[in-house]
Amino acid sequence: MKRSVIGFPRIGKDRELKFASEKYFKGEISETLLEAAAKEIRSYGFHKQKDAGIDFISSNDFSFYDNVLDTAVLFNIIPDRYRELGLPELGTYFAMARGYQGEKGNVKALAMKKWFNTNYHYLVPEIDDNTEVKLVGDKPIREYKEAKALGVETKTAIVGPFTFLKLARYTGEKNLENFKDAFIAEYVKLVELLRKEGVQWIEFDEPYLVRDLDEADIKLVRDIYNKIIDVKGDTKLLLQTYFGDIRDIYEIIISLGFDGVGLDFVEGRKTLDLIKTKGFPEDVILFAGLVNGKNIWRNNYDKTLEIINSLNIKSEIVLGTSCSLLHVPYTLDSETKLGEDYTKHFAFAEEKLVELKEISDIYDGTADGLLIKNQELFKRRVNSYDEAVATRVAGIKDADYTRLPGFYEREKLQKELLKLPAFPTTTIGSFPQTADVRKNRQAFRKGEITKEQYTEFNKNKIRECIELQEEIGLDVIVHGEFERNDMVEYFGENLEGYVFTEKAWVQSYGTRCVKPPIIWGDVSRKHPITVEWSKYAKSCTDKPVKGMLTGPVTILNWSFPREDISIKESTLQIALAIRDEVLDLEANGINIIQIDEAALREKLPLRRSDWYCEYLDWAIPAFRLVHSGVKPETQIHTHMCYSEFTDIIPAIDAMDADVITFEASRSDLQILDSLKENNFKTEVGPGVYDIHSPRVPSVEEIVAALTKMREKIDDKKLWVNPDCGLKTRGETETKASLINLVAAAKIIREK
Ligand code: GLN
Ligand code: ZN
Repeated sequence: MKRSVIGFPRIGKDRELKFASEKYFKGEISETLLEAAAKEIRSYGFHKQKDAGIDFISSNDFSFYDNVLDTAVLFNIIPDRYRELGLPELGTYFAMARGYQGEKGNVKALAMKKWFNTNYHYLVPEIDDNTEVKLVGDKPIREYKEAKALGVETKTAIVGPFTFLKLARYTGEKNLENFKDAFIAEYVKLVELLRKEGVQWIEFDEPYLVRDLDEADIKLVRDIYNKIIDVKGDTKLLLQTYFGDIRDIYEIIISLGFDGVGLDFVEGRKTLDLIKTKGFPEDVILFAGLVNGKNIWRNNYDKTLEIINSLNIKSEIVLGTSCSLLHVPYTLDSETKLGEDYTKHFAFAEEKLVELKEISDIYDGTADGLLIKNQELFKRRVNSYDEAVATRVAGIKDADYTRLPGFYEREKLQKELLKLPAFPTTTIGSFPQTADVRKNRQAFRKGEITKEQYTEFNKNKIRECIELQEEIGLDVIVHGEFERNDMVEYFGENLEGYVFTEKAWVQSYGTRCVKPPIIWGDVSRKHPITVEWSKYAKSCTDKPVKGMLTGPVTILNWSFPREDISIKESTLQIALAIRDEVLDLEANGINIIQIDEAALREKLPLRRSDWYCEYLDWAIPAFRLVHSGVKPETQIHTHMCYSEFTDIIPAIDAMDADVITFEASRSDLQILDSLKENNFKTEVGPGVYDIHSPRVPSVEEIVAALTKMREKIDDKKLWVNPDCGLKTRGETETKASLINLVAAAKIIREK
């Protein structure tokens, strides 16, 4: 059985591309040097895959920033504002990716969005009425030739036209329909050029096919690929899908005339079923995505082989990854501290290559003993199970998911007790993490200072931060989160059941990488985590102090989850741990507690029909479990980063928090209409200014934002706050912005 990989990581094993790019941005290295670093990274990936015996290796999966952006530039989708800067090619590319501020002008970057249900972000192509769709680049050809020169025959991977057209934003009068034909024509040209070049396989990545599709979508797919297949000649075409199954269009896709169709068996719940009930044509090669491209656990060979054996089709089967390996780290070779007991259970990108080989060898009957060795891995793991946790989760009762008394009664009690002014002002939690804060943490981690010194430093920071908030006149005070490096990692490090890696970086966008912690076993809290900090903060002021926690859904969504128990089960374990922390904070006199669910919206299933049954039906109760045990007087806040939850407002209200703050300043405030329409009961603090930019908002601007909000939100329910944490901001702009925020709230109160 042959093996195929959809895409390989490209940031560099030691994040070489990140560091080279950052130097290039600062003008410290030339384009030539940056290109040389990139070439090295590509070559590394090609060779690794070839040496591992991969038969179908992708080229053009590399990117300086993002593949959707690459595709936009390839087809001349460059908005005028970037063109007008008059920069060289790569300069224009990076201006679109990151914005440009310099002698040639000042433009913002293209919008960035999450790539389907991953933590990777793509740049949203902008098509306006003057856009001339035209094949102007040659990146796919260059990279094919480069691999070939290295002795590696590759398939050319490219973002498919359907996915591209669906993800693009049409900013003028014209829409997708108006551009469709031009796109098809230019993709056809590309196929012809690749054919002339001798490319044997072209892979069209079409993840958009796993979403809910309507008649128009299906027609569009047919129109596109009928034309492309017409000109393919000897070149073989692979239609590659991932992140789910293609139930709405399966029969059409398999019979359109592709040489290969790639299906996801890991996330595609219905993939197997579709093949079994609807068949699979004999003359099409099935690229079976069976090795998980998103998670880091070893593949269970028994299960994988069982799926392959149950397929019962006559066509050739190629064993593949479920999606690009971009979403996992490079290699376990870089992990020196975890130890074999742990690492033997993991497979990062390079180890997945070995898995592909081993599974296919077992299937072909040319491997001995590999299966038994693999079966061993799925018996009990060390330090993974905790009876007490399992018992506690099993003992959760329906009533534990409900906070009593109901919202309105609590709201009344809290107003009496907290005596906050109308339009209370607060922040989202973190204050600027200045260099001294990070230095203190690093010194402690390296053992250069004692725990006492570390704590002393942070306490001083907290006191100063509180003095500052009092001086500014904020109503609800926070401690500033100086002890946290990251809102998820911090809790992971303080909970049982987590393990951490040294170099397991995964690209989040452009040069930014994250290092998600791994949920290894049953999660529990052995000791209070934030209580000392919050208690100290409370001792510094007479004003109410808000305790600050990360919620279970966000902790789970930003970690690598377990595969031996359900995500729901893991989330409930985390929820119980955070619940203990909530109750401890309350017992220590903290009567406002914020539980951040920044990433709640992120893992919403790609199909609307799955939103509730697959996700919200357990995620929302898990959040309620965290706070249902507090007294009615204790005010529970939550925070979400995006206001893109217009379509799940009832679910957000069902979190049953007392106050929710969220980002709204960049969006058009349309969320407010939906809140009103849905009779949203929770009090709300739609961010009044954008913390993602260093710009200081004026008092008038904030008054204007609040005035608009008041049209839709009851005065008694409106809070005044920035739209997210201030961690990444400088101290000067933070102070100036918050002074204006408080001044604006006062003006509104006087009205
Ligand atoms: N409390 C966190 C902070 O202020 C929230 C961060 C977030 O929403 N991403 O930093
Ligand atoms: Zn946020």
